[in-house]
Amino acid sequence: MRATRIIWEGAGSHAPHEFDGTLIPTRTGLAPTCAMCGDASPQWSADDAFSDNFRPLSHLAQLYPFAVEGYPLSMCAACVWCSRALRLRCAPFFARRDGVWFVPRRSLLSALLDPPEPPFVACAPLYGADHGGEAHGWRAVWPREPALPAGLDVLNRLQAKHVAAYAGVALDRMRYPLQWDDHTRVMVDVLLWRDLAARLGAMASALRAASVGVTDTRDALTTLRAPVRAPLAVHARWPTLARGLSTYTRSAWWPLLADIVPLPDAPPRPEKGSPTKAAPSSVEAPSAPAIVALAPIPRPTPAAPLAPATPSPRENPKRRGQLTLF
Ligand SMILES: [Zn+2]
Repeated sequence: MRATRIIWEGAGSHAPHEFDGTLIPTRTGLAPTCAMCGDASPQWSADDAFSDNFRPLSHLAQLYPFAVEGYPLSMCAACVWCSRALRLRCAPFFARRDGVWFVPRRSLLSALLDPPEPPFVACAPLYGADHGGEAHGWRAVWPREPALPAGLDVLNRLQAKHVAAYAGVALDRMRYPLQWDDHTRVMVDVLLWRDLAARLGAMASALRAASVGVTDTRDALTTLRAPVRAPLAVHARWPTLARGLSTYTRSAWWPLLADIVPLPDAPPRPEKGSPTKAAPSSVEAPSAPAIVALAPIPRPTPAAPLAPATPSPRENPKRRGQLTLF
């Protein structure tokens, strides 16, 4: 079974439709197989799946591995529906045949280290999440959700990469494919990532305890180079903290892992100047507001889930961290 079919079934197996619910008419004269997933008897074409605004322009060979020469790019209901569902480009998600769960960035690492039972699909449209998807994705139409309150507009466009069409199917929850935007599919090795996340968490703690800013901390985790401005004590410990990690920095997934390790808050600075001055973390973190918006985040202890996400309008408190909606 292909990833798009798992996602489509998880979302309720809906016929392809426009944003306003109008069904998209079927076509004739199509290829015998869906160009995207290979399923038999497709009834739509790529023109139904992608408007000019959302048409993928790169990685087309991976997008249509089953294209049949001499026919239009033909597509099945699952592939058309997944390509049109804007919510799927707004935030990371896991999908199984019985559901689709969106994950806020701050919970992504704990979700990746504790994924659902296979078969499932794991996608991280981080480009879209960073371009407003995580903040506004809840306004993208999704099956069985009630209409938005009066005065709120449906989100119908977003600068975001397609992910579902490129994703693979996970058959093993300890080692599985994660589709990262449209360009990279990485293998998540849960045991390895758990160890590395703990190591990166220790480095992050040392840096943040020394009041190193969020951006410098992220750079240090990615490059394994201690920030020049870090205190001498951190530089002294750095070789021990980073020992052995350079083996992994050339892996395609390393920048992703370094980017999703939660950062602890920096300690409050000694009182000087105005008492109304903002906390250091909010001053230093223009690049990562979703992370510092949280209350103090514990160091990642990979065996345990992270603290629950900050309540949001769409969060179901009964669900565990990785299964929250935005
Ligand atoms: Zn298909």
